[in-house]
Amino acid sequence: MARNTFETLGDRAPQPCALGDAHGVAMAFMNPGLTVSPLPFRHPTLLDNEVRINVTHAGCCHSDIFMATQAWFPNGNFPLVPGHEIVGIVDKVGEKVTKVQPGDKVGFGVWRDACENFETCMQCRTGHENFCSKRATTYDPHFGGYATSFQAKGSFFYKLDESFPGQAAPLFCAGMTVFPPLHRDVVAGMKVGVVGIGGLGHLALKFANCMGAEVTAISTSNNKQADATEFGAHHFVNLRDETQMKNAIGSLDYIINTATSYDIAQCCSLLKPMGTLNLCGFPDAKENVNFSLLPILLNQLRVQANPVGSRLEGEEMLEFVKIHNIYPRTETYAFADTQAAVNSLADGNPHYPNYRAVLEMRSFMETFTPAN
Ligand SMILES: [Zn+2]
Ligand SMILES: [Zn+2]
Repeated sequence: MARNTFETLGDRAPQPCALGDAHGVAMAFMNPGLTVSPLPFRHPTLLDNEVRINVTHAGCCHSDIFMATQAWFPNGNFPLVPGHEIVGIVDKVGEKVTKVQPGDKVGFGVWRDACENFETCMQCRTGHENFCSKRATTYDPHFGGYATSFQAKGSFFYKLDESFPGQAAPLFCAGMTVFPPLHRDVVAGMKVGVVGIGGLGHLALKFANCMGAEVTAISTSNNKQADATEFGAHHFVNLRDETQMKNAIGSLDYIINTATSYDIAQCCSLLKPMGTLNLCGFPDAKENVNFSLLPILLNQLRVQANPVGSRLEGEEMLEFVKIHNIYPRTETYAFADTQAAVNSLADGNPHYPNYRAVLEMRSFMETFTPAN
């Protein structure tokens, strides 16, 4: 996956401009760090396969902080406009776009592009475009959802029902990270553990419960227990409680670990023989994950990891959340207060009892008129 820069994008790059000429206003990290400031900008010319939307909501993901602080990549593209959990209303569509039309409510996630050549690319052909060698992520250096306007290839948008709540935008990354592995691997009656009860974990509890699993929430803080029960956990294990951990040894068929630091041996000890450990949270790139092979070998365990799912898996998730009424518990910030959302994320999490921060553009849009 070659990394783009503003130079390689050329005239396909967004252009900062005067407010009066702007298609949108972004909340941009102008330099590495944790400070955002408003940045008026113009999109590149709308291609015939592209869609431009007015963003109504954008979720804030921990990866936004990793990108802004260059924890994952040393040479970031700044100004950086994160945001890959996007909900909005279609404004303009290119001539060849048939999937959506102006006025439609749409969602957008982590993947912006792939080759989509069904003749030559087995990944795209089989609905796994999230593994295509030409896959591209939504922002950096393109501008993402921390903006009033967003533009990308039409085929990567999800068409949403009118009733889809904008505050549920975090489904497009947090949901799309935990739903695909659970959907693939979990069948009714399985004993499933969810490690880490945060943005990803609270959704994983809901999904696993609705898939018919007997669910155990595994956390380091007892104050998450009541919430975990509400989200669908049947049992609760505190990782730091020796007795609880001892009682849980060898009890689970499957564990999904959503925490960003891993104790693989500890997770593996909770699995039954032939159980599966799925790692979802992605740590700071400087943190290597070390583990001993022996407990995995002796119990023939499977250890796997996954990135954000494909569009097909996204459509399946959207069906599933509609049937089961599964939405994230979020804290909403007015777009003008993006800095406060970033601060709460940098501190670890949105303020308890919320599990994800979401930017809401409506009040800002009352004061801003986009240029043509
Ligand atoms: Zn994310
Ligand atoms: Zn491809």
